[in-house]
Amino acid sequence: MYIADLHIHSRFSRATSKDGDLPHLDWWARRKGIRMVGTGDFTHPAWRAELREQLVPAGEGVYTLRQDLRLPDVAPGEAPRFVITGEISCIYKRHGRTRKVHNLILLPSLEAADELSARLEAIGNIHSDGRPILGLDSRDLLELTLDTCPDAEFIPAHIWTPHFALFGAFSGFDTMEECFGDLTGHIHAVETGLSSDPPMNWRVSALDGLTLVSHSDAHSPSKLGREADLLDTGLTYPELVRAIRTGEGFQGTVEFFPEEGKYHLDGHRNCGVCLTPAETAALGGVCPVCGKKLTIGVEHRVEALADRPAGFRPEGAKPFESLAPLPEVIAASTGVSAAGKNTQALYEQMLHALGPEFSILREVPVEDIAHTAGPCVAEGIRRLRAGQVERRAGFDGEYGVISLLTPGEIARFSGQISLFGLDLPVRKSKPRRELQHVLAPEAAPAAPQPEALNPPQLEAVTSTAPVTAVTAGPGTGKTRTLVARIAWLVEERGVRPGEITAVTFTNQAAAEMRARLEQRLGGKRAVAAMTIGTFHAICLKLLGDVRLISPGEALTIAEQVLRESGRKGGGKTLLQSVSRVKNGVSPEDTGLDAELYDAYQARLRDLGALDFDDLLTEGLKRDVTGLRCFRHVLVDEFQDINDIQYQLVRS
Ligand SMILES: [Zn+2]
Ligand SMILES: [Zn+2]
Ligand SMILES: [Zn+2]
Repeated sequence: MYIADLHIHSRFSRATSKDGDLPHLDWWARRKGIRMVGTGDFTHPAWRAELREQLVPAGEGVYTLRQDLRLPDVAPGEAPRFVITGEISCIYKRHGRTRKVHNLILLPSLEAADELSARLEAIGNIHSDGRPILGLDSRDLLELTLDTCPDAEFIPAHIWTPHFALFGAFSGFDTMEECFGDLTGHIHAVETGLSSDPPMNWRVSALDGLTLVSHSDAHSPSKLGREADLLDTGLTYPELVRAIRTGEGFQGTVEFFPEEGKYHLDGHRNCGVCLTPAETAALGGVCPVCGKKLTIGVEHRVEALADRPAGFRPEGAKPFESLAPLPEVIAASTGVSAAGKNTQALYEQMLHALGPEFSILREVPVEDIAHTAGPCVAEGIRRLRAGQVERRAGFDGEYGVISLLTPGEIARFSGQISLFGLDLPVRKSKPRRELQHVLAPEAAPAAPQPEALNPPQLEAVTSTAPVTAVTAGPGTGKTRTLVARIAWLVEERGVRPGEITAVTFTNQAAAEMRARLEQRLGGKRAVAAMTIGTFHAICLKLLGDVRLISPGEALTIAEQVLRESGRKGGGKTLLQSVSRVKNGVSPEDTGLDAELYDAYQARLRDLGALDFDDLLTEGLKRDVTGLRCFRHVLVDEFQDINDIQYQLVRS
């Protein structure tokens, strides 16, 4: 299966970003995990010249970026295929009304793009805007397109947007036939647009039998894949178009939450008025603040054209996934801004550690995400996948906003067990039910007594060995066993909480364990003195107030080292090798140059700082055996420990 995004714009379209060029599109597609990308803007002569010069054929009707033009920065995914596409804005009079309709065209080759552009040039100006405005009836554009190139695919774009679309409230049509007349049968697919999702479209029976496609309409390469198609076909133009025409091999779409689209509900942006269709109707369509006509949103328009109730699902409807861009997910899970430096640094770190963005959003196990990005982001992605998303709808050109974790939840998920706050002061006044609320999804009614455990678990609970490791697959009650053992140590053996250390692999698991212990042992006070956390968190506690550099700083240092040594290669690759060496892999096996390693370490020493891996190494050097808190060490998921971490447990 692969992901395709066929409606995008280059820097030759109005209001687009400067880096709307092929190397950046290629790079971002790899970072996102998109295998098929539309070129956009095929009508623009300068863009077409770039396509001709920078792309090479890579299968029937598809192209790929010339190898030598690929950006040097590391990106996780595979090189995308490009398919020739473009969007045309048709503005014309029909049945006495002005119509403005955007149409997306897919073409089988650059030669076809040359031919079609030559014919469009005779009709209007295709030189000043990558998405040209032509005084051409949509039906006539369709006829001209098929006449020039029978293999072309013609798709009405973002059909519900108010101002420029087939079904747009202001200058669209009420039916397909009104717009395309005798040629309606040549339309096989419609683009649902950012403000609508498939269930909204399923309510309109006129769309039955058409493939519902979704694309980003990105005006900047970083926005690629906001919406996309999921396909299970070969990576060629004929196979792609066949899937769009017949639905065979078309597996569904990736969708924005429709509320996030900037025309979901009705309203006036400048007046701060946002209304549901029913509220608009009650007000007679007039803004209660300025008295002018309200901008009607997509929900309203769908409501007007729908002949089925909400929730109707036609036979053969394709599945879809509602996702949001990863930086937005990070922001919505941590309460910081999506454009902020921290979010961007974490985004880079996640791509680096976990693979392309779509893999992270759709497939990577939540535990792995927690390991790299912490408990809040992991929980945010879990909720996103489960559809547990708070939405504030967009209206009149203002994008909607999603939120995944409330500020209280963020504080709880991260604060209590964050790297820098292992033992956050306990505020007695906090009511307990808040805690239970956070853990509601999996809160056990009451912590199990040791008697409730099976024999191996019971053995683990009552062992007298100083180090207890519980190895078992997920969901087999490891945390339960560890909690029971700690309770047993405290209640039966009189061990002081301050002598107990429990190691987990994620901050989330640490939080869960702490919460369960609090429930089991009757309050926070008993648990506060225990050391519970990830290896990193515990090392940090051991080493005291060390300066820890962020992944972004580490990358900057790595890049400086490379620059100064005059070596080739990316900073991220260097960091990866350094990290492997620090985790016990031999330098030979990583292919890491000792000089680069030394230069990197020297720079850290100059700064008096450690990176994450140093925390472990330095932690090992301390004589931990004498420390009281290591009298009783309990480790969750022992089998995952690498060499360095294992030594730390044994020492
Ligand atoms: Zn458009
Ligand atoms: Zn567009
Ligand atoms: Zn108003």
